[in-house]
Amino acid sequence: MALSPDNTVVLASGNRGKLLELGNLLGGLGITLLSQADFNVIEADETGLSFIENAILKARNAARQSGHAALADDSGLCVDALGGAPGIYSARYAGEKAQDADNNLKLLDALQGESNRKAHFHCALAFVRHADDPAPIVAEGLWQGDILDAPRGTNGFGYDPLFYINDLNLCSAELSKEQKNQLSHRALALAQLLPRLRSEYLSI
Ligand code: IMP
Repeated sequence: MALSPDNTVVLASGNRGKLLELGNLLGGLGITLLSQADFNVIEADETGLSFIENAILKARNAARQSGHAALADDSGLCVDALGGAPGIYSARYAGEKAQDADNNLKLLDALQGESNRKAHFHCALAFVRHADDPAPIVAEGLWQGDILDAPRGTNGFGYDPLFYINDLNLCSAELSKEQKNQLSHRALALAQLLPRLRSEYLSI
């Protein structure tokens, strides 16, 4: 069902980088993307067990507190040999206040002697027209790679120095921002979300 849009959408994230990147893309659809910080939104408790559940929780929370449609993302790294861990706990794998380097060290420890290094970055995006929207528009993107034995490269953040892309013979922290923005789990999820937003929300 196509609804008539309010052209303001609130991004359920305080990350300015994400706001800029997504704001540019959604600007092309006539949507003005604002940060939830502009509405003093108190962050949602991420109590879901999956990326998509948490993305929907965050989007509903931002919509409820701002009174606007909302978009949220949730992402992380899933390692096959670890049953998908660190998964939704990627940011705090090595503890509540863990830095990227601590998380990377813990991951290397967990994979010591493991020959199966397969992993993927996962991104879930959820868009709600209002807080109680019964049919959120959702999209997911998976970026496949392998976990290295030691960090490489200086770009990016999080687990990028350990995430190796076979096809390119490079690790994620060796890619330029532009390259990563074309290949990443976020890019893949967005490529799925945009046409759905266009047809199911904006009806253009
Ligand atoms: P968030 O959903 O952006 O908060 O990401 C959660 C966590 O997943 C981050 O803190 C990183 O540890 C990890 N992560 C998500 N996306 C990436 C990525 O593109 N590169 C490296 N790590 C990532």
